[in-house]
Amino acid sequence: MTSQQPYNPQNDEQVITDAYKVLLDSYLNSNHRRKVEIIEKAYNFAREAHKGVRRRSGEPYILHPIAVATIVSVEMGLGSTSICSALLHDVVEDTDYTVEDIRHLFGDKIAEIVDGLTKISGGIFGDGASAQAENFRKLLLTMGNDIRVVLIKMADRLHNMRTLQSMPPAKQYKIAGETLYIYAPLAHRLGLFAIKTELEDLSFKYNHPETFETLKRKIATSEASRNTFFEEFAAPIRERLDRMGLQYEFKARVKSCYSIWKKMETKHVPFEEVYDLYAARIVFECDDESLEKRRCMDIYSEITDLYKLHPSRTRDWLSTPKPNGYRALHITVMGSHGTWVEVQIRSRRMDDIAERGLAAHWKYKIGEDEDSGLTAWLRTIQDILKQPGPTAMDMLDTIKLDLFSNAIVVFSPKGDLFNMPPGATVLDFAFTLHSELGAHCIAGKVNRQLVPLSQQLASGDQVEVLTSRSQVPQPEWESMLVTAVGQARLRQALRHSRRQVVHRGEEMYKRFLADNNIEPSNDAMIKVIALYHAASKDDLYRMIGSGEVVLGELTLQRLRRKKNGTLLGFLRDKLRLKTADAAPTEQPAADGQVDLKKVYDLRLVDGKPNYELSDCCKPIPGDDVVGFVIDGNRVVVHKMDCPRVARLKATHGPLLVQTRWDETTTVRLPASVRVEGIDRQGVLLEIISVISTTMVLDMRRLNIEAYDGVFHCDLDVLIADATILTDMCRRLRSIKGVNMAARVS
Ligand code: MN
Repeated sequence: MTSQQPYNPQNDEQVITDAYKVLLDSYLNSNHRRKVEIIEKAYNFAREAHKGVRRRSGEPYILHPIAVATIVSVEMGLGSTSICSALLHDVVEDTDYTVEDIRHLFGDKIAEIVDGLTKISGGIFGDGASAQAENFRKLLLTMGNDIRVVLIKMADRLHNMRTLQSMPPAKQYKIAGETLYIYAPLAHRLGLFAIKTELEDLSFKYNHPETFETLKRKIATSEASRNTFFEEFAAPIRERLDRMGLQYEFKARVKSCYSIWKKMETKHVPFEEVYDLYAARIVFECDDESLEKRRCMDIYSEITDLYKLHPSRTRDWLSTPKPNGYRALHITVMGSHGTWVEVQIRSRRMDDIAERGLAAHWKYKIGEDEDSGLTAWLRTIQDILKQPGPTAMDMLDTIKLDLFSNAIVVFSPKGDLFNMPPGATVLDFAFTLHSELGAHCIAGKVNRQLVPLSQQLASGDQVEVLTSRSQVPQPEWESMLVTAVGQARLRQALRHSRRQVVHRGEEMYKRFLADNNIEPSNDAMIKVIALYHAASKDDLYRMIGSGEVVLGELTLQRLRRKKNGTLLGFLRDKLRLKTADAAPTEQPAADGQVDLKKVYDLRLVDGKPNYELSDCCKPIPGDDVVGFVIDGNRVVVHKMDCPRVARLKATHGPLLVQTRWDETTTVRLPASVRVEGIDRQGVLLEIISVISTTMVLDMRRLNIEAYDGVFHCDLDVLIADATILTDMCRRLRSIKGVNMAARVS
């Protein structure tokens, strides 16, 4: 291609004339009606309009429209209207001519197509193109006008991909990504198999240049042995087909680099094991369309007489063609040395349709007007597009499923493209963009919908990261991350934030002592550590700094208790731990003491609860809870899933008691609830109404924050039973705009 070598402007005239001759010859050799005159006129007009302009490669610009028109003619089998439109496709966008000028010279149809092409170049296929469902809907509308708009656009992209070499690498990468995401699936959908394969291979080449070269080399080195194998395999089949008196073509088929790579990636197999590397195709001539299927079956029968058939790899696309119109019979049989070979059997007509799409129907409708044939084709395509479901979204999904079984592609709000592994979450995306974004991420917006950090992304999603300066990275986030970069950056952020939390906790502890006129001392420290079952001084600071522990009345009580009493209590705890370890059944149940063997009933005694609620997880009646015995007779209740319980189990296991909420308990306790959603007029009113009017609950605290179209609402309600809370959250979630309503601790 000229793009690879420096272009010599001396040859301009000759090169252009030659290119045009190729185009014209292809048209004259087709079955279309001869409308050379209008093609000539379009060519001269475009040539004049682009005069003096060169492409990045140095070639005269006009070579591009000629190349696009040639693709339209040769590879798509389209006629004069499409060829003219292709020749003129960049005139309105790049020169001073208008659609009206085109209409005046070439009529309504061509003007409409050129107009369509100009319009979509800025939209769906433009620079900021992201494959949103909306865009696909737009595309459907465009196709409704004239399918040729999309086909010519496809040819335009194909030529741009073929000449991508002259683009700077950053652009190459972007264009290649877009091609793989939008154009290749669309080509597949339209049944343009050859174009789809070429687009994929070209995208692959620019996205993974080294892998592409390696694969190409491997395919080349294995060629000789493949040929020998194939000839050996084909000889007996040829003999049979000859005996049947068939006119046919029997060729070995090499899978494309991209499809080999895709298989290696999805199946995790080395190059050598991609077994349908061996594939063959039989294309037979058949004048009578009604005999095609029967002939396929005859060939099938001959081959399976010769070779053993793979029981589960026969694909009958004859009886039920693929949605894109593909018809053929695929079988896999065992060749020598136990190698599986896929054989595709199809008629010349089926082959044409498979390679060039339904446009190939053309060839078989001799003498008909281009427009009438295309109308029929357009109807077929629209039926295809309608098939997967009523919405464009479904079509998008199907396309994505086809192509991205092993990776997803998401877009930033600006339309930048990111490859992510399957299962990647909003948090992964945030960390991929920047450590700071990840560490302060509070939520995301996927396709403008508010979603939590853990939301898994799907191909085509447009993802926006919402952050808050008050957010700190959490250890639990680890489970939300699938990317290596996300996990590494989280760990780093955690180390950093842990140091900050410990520091903050230390400050808070010192301030607390100062505010209450208590001398900081080793003794005080031991008391507080004992009270909160911290593992060390730093652990205590961390608990305070993270809010897991709130210093308050309870702390003061313990600090002000007589020294020996406290120490005794502390030692008793320790001792009890030892006794319990040795013989938990011998636990004394003396006055007021807790019997560790029994289930402890949580109830009111003289109007006061016989238990304390831990302030780390704030359990309420009805919650699954566990008690923790301190000082031998006080029971502190934690929620079963409280993170501290896990630690307590490990360190103070024998002091945990099984508990049960007494049914007669009527105590109401505050529970914290967080509600999040999209901010809109009146949403707060509805939330309050659900809580106060519908549920008749007492609200103790309400704090609402709204920014960037999202609101966060923290509230405390008095709850007598956990099931009421569950019900309340369910009702809150049904309010329009509310995305999340859940209890928090
Ligand atoms: Mn173009």
